[in-house]
Amino acid sequence: MHNRFLQLAAPGVRDLHPYQPGKPISELEREYGISNSIKLASNENPLGPSDAALTAIREASRQIHLYPDGNGYELKQALAAKHGVPLEAITLGNGSNEVIMLAAETFLTAQDEAIYSQHGFAAYPIAVQAIGATARVVPALATDSAMPRGDDLAGFAERVNAKTRMVFIANPNNPTGTWLEAEALRAFIRSLPDKVIVIVDQAYFEYNLGADYGDASAWLSEFPNLVVARSFSKAYGLAGLRIGYCLSHPDVASLMNRVRLAFNTSVLAQAAAIAALQATDYLEKTRQINDSGLASLSDFCTRHGIPYSPSRGNFLLIDVQRDAMPVYEKLLRAGIIVRPVGGYGLPECLRISIGLPDEMERLMAALPAVLDLS
Ligand SMILES: *Cc1c(COP(=O)(O)O)cnc(C)c1O
Repeated sequence: MHNRFLQLAAPGVRDLHPYQPGKPISELEREYGISNSIKLASNENPLGPSDAALTAIREASRQIHLYPDGNGYELKQALAAKHGVPLEAITLGNGSNEVIMLAAETFLTAQDEAIYSQHGFAAYPIAVQAIGATARVVPALATDSAMPRGDDLAGFAERVNAKTRMVFIANPNNPTGTWLEAEALRAFIRSLPDKVIVIVDQAYFEYNLGADYGDASAWLSEFPNLVVARSFSKAYGLAGLRIGYCLSHPDVASLMNRVRLAFNTSVLAQAAAIAALQATDYLEKTRQINDSGLASLSDFCTRHGIPYSPSRGNFLLIDVQRDAMPVYEKLLRAGIIVRPVGGYGLPECLRISIGLPDEMERLMAALPAVLDLS
């Protein structure tokens, strides 16, 4: 539709498409007149919030007439102890989405180039385009490769030039679930000119990621140009509170702090995050449910000849080998919300978040009919 203010918008904003979130359960039930539906669409923790976080929120709610600590001192203390970094290395954000945006606002200009993968996380193209910088998009690895639709580090390296200012890598990536092995990623970062800021987005870090996976926060002393983003939205179960952070060289954090809005993380989010860091049983259960759900869905796909990208996240990208929208619609009618990913250039795929065992059973019971499998 024509927008009468289009010509007034900043050039990058004119071509921007808003982020398409997963359909909320309430909207589905309203539109289809059904009940008892389940949402496997937004990579949320199916266990619900931890008791520790709920208790902390109740306690902190007595303080909501006050502005939050704009510096987030107590949460930063807890994170500094956890990661063995100084407080000055930490930047808190309204979700890790915000720290990704802050990094881009701090370092990118319309004259610069930024590199990310073809099916890379949606926040990267939005950040780069909003600033009007030039995106260099790396074609994904082939569907018949060992890491179907994954990030091609050689392709990233080929696109680095004098104008490159930022590189964005999600490990594992959303929506593909694909990952990069520690040594390959580390060697790539080492190969970058030190004037290139590299964001390694580890939103799924708290899941079981395998022995070949690397903790990028351990590389910060080696790479002053590295920014490691983490989230409380996934394994920590706090997506609705909006809290995330990044670790970087203190000088990088100090620049990002100039751009950050004063009270970007709330009283409740800060308190819940501190408590979530202590909730080790909840995290353990989260991992266990994810491992078993991911294994059973992957096995199901293998048994039924449904191709998928191997995943180390809390979701699986399946290839339905036809327009995925009618499949998505049929699942909606069965009360199951999954995520179409046409916006990621994957019109024949669906991203399915790992739910509780009975939710996975319900999905796997519905899929054969929906996909006309015998
Ligand atoms: C979910 C996700 C995020 C984060 O989200 P926030 O809720 O903003 O913390 C960041 N990166 C990737 C790759 C994700 O999948």
